[in-house]
Amino acid sequence: MNKAIFLDRDGVIISDDGLYYITNPYDIKINPGITELLSWLQSEGYLLIVISNQGGIARGIYTFSDTERVHSRLLDLLKDHRIKLDEIYYCPHHPEIEKCICRKPDTVLIEKAISRFNIDAGKSFFIGDRETDMEAAKNAGIEGILVNANQDMSLVKEIIKDKKGTS
Ligand SMILES: [Mg+2]
Ligand SMILES: [Zn+2]
Repeated sequence: MNKAIFLDRDGVIISDDGLYYITNPYDIKINPGITELLSWLQSEGYLLIVISNQGGIARGIYTFSDTERVHSRLLDLLKDHRIKLDEIYYCPHHPEIEKCICRKPDTVLIEKAISRFNIDAGKSFFIGDRETDMEAAKNAGIEGILVNANQDMSLVKEIIKDKKGTS
């Protein structure tokens, strides 16, 4: 079985400082320390899987293709650091428009990843900046790591080292 790090996108990988929705690929700023963290996680053998709520799609603020463009730009930026995200899953729904079972804190997207990549939830972590991320993680049996939005993400390295040491 594989181990994985699940990551929220906005506020964790990408800076969402001053932006509620990130719709323009050239607006993307990756957060401080995130490339260092992701490189390290990759070298430790973790799959890197993004789980993101993109309710702006349902609300008509941006489209699927805008979202795909943001993701391909993100993949390019990370590729410069030899980092590969194994998958980006996102929920395009919004509860005011259309109810669904994939928006965090629901776990369908996490479960999809678990089954597709044969992931051991007990050896995996979810890094998120919101309580809904932590709830989703918990609902899927994954330990959550709550960070501050747009903080220096390299600090998470020590948290994961500590948690592995005690488990
Ligand atoms: Mg977030
Ligand atoms: Zn959904």
